[in-house]
Amino acid sequence: MKLRPMNGRVVVRPIETSEETGGGIVIPDTAREKPHEGEIVALAEDATEEVAIGGPVSSRFRKKETSRRCGVGRKQAFAIRNNTERKGKMILTVASGKGGTGKTTFSVNLAYALAQRGERVRLLDCDVEEPNDHLFVKPHFTEERDVTVPKPVWDANKCTACGKCAKACHYNAIAVVKKKVLIFNELCHSCGVCTYVCPEGALSERDAKIGIVQAAPGHKPFFFAHGLLNIGEALAPNVVRAVKEHLDPQAINIIDASPGTACPVIEAVRGADAALLVTEPTPFGLNDLKLAVG
Ligand code: SF4
Ligand code: SF4
Repeated sequence: MKLRPMNGRVVVRPIETSEETGGGIVIPDTAREKPHEGEIVALAEDATEEVAIGGPVSSRFRKKETSRRCGVGRKQAFAIRNNTERKGKMILTVASGKGGTGKTTFSVNLAYALAQRGERVRLLDCDVEEPNDHLFVKPHFTEERDVTVPKPVWDANKCTACGKCAKACHYNAIAVVKKKVLIFNELCHSCGVCTYVCPEGALSERDAKIGIVQAAPGHKPFFFAHGLLNIGEALAPNVVRAVKEHLDPQAINIIDASPGTACPVIEAVRGADAALLVTEPTPFGLNDLKLAVG
């Protein structure tokens, strides 16, 4: 393949799943799962040594690359997801299909109960769209850092209005209207494709702030941190990953996840030793619990 990725990126060809089940049922396109595996067909000169052309790619690798783009260290992300550097203690994610079931109450009380037993505990509120553990914990935050992702920036002087960037964007986050390129940052997923396909170099990337992570390392009796996604931003998983940088291999880490079953929850559960689902005895609670269990 003649593609030459830049900036540490790789090009992955998805391995399509079979169109027919073992029982002979033909699965329509709309019902087929998106491929979870692929093979590397091209890579940048400065790509990590962990990858090679022809090598397999699983969701694990893709998350490592995504993490790099949002500022999480590769080694750390790798260790978290593979549990290779953790000894003794655990990561417990508290989730719930339905909101309002008492997930926060459970997480906070579990953290206090374990800490009072003398355990080393970290409580990480990863419900980044609406964190509320801090209302009960009342921490004094002494650390704060921005969570940023790369977003495209247009240079009108170089642009020929060819439209390739808009055609390549799978998220409809970029449009070419009357020789002007409009970028909708809230829809942009920071994939870098538009910058890559632009033949004139009219698109570059700049870091844009999508939220913050606040931490209270001195809080007693346990360490507390949470993330806050900016209103209107879509990339909650990136902020969740940034909060998870505070995981401590020597502690019992309690992650309070968002309600629902969407990407932020999956990110909060990823790499955990166990997920604990909190529900309520109602038909809605049961329905959403089934969705969460899968
Ligand atoms: S691909 Fe580049 S040159 Fe073409 S419209 Fe987009 S920004 Fe302009
Ligand atoms: S970075 Fe990706 S999602 Fe964002 S505008 Fe470019 S192609 Fe679309």
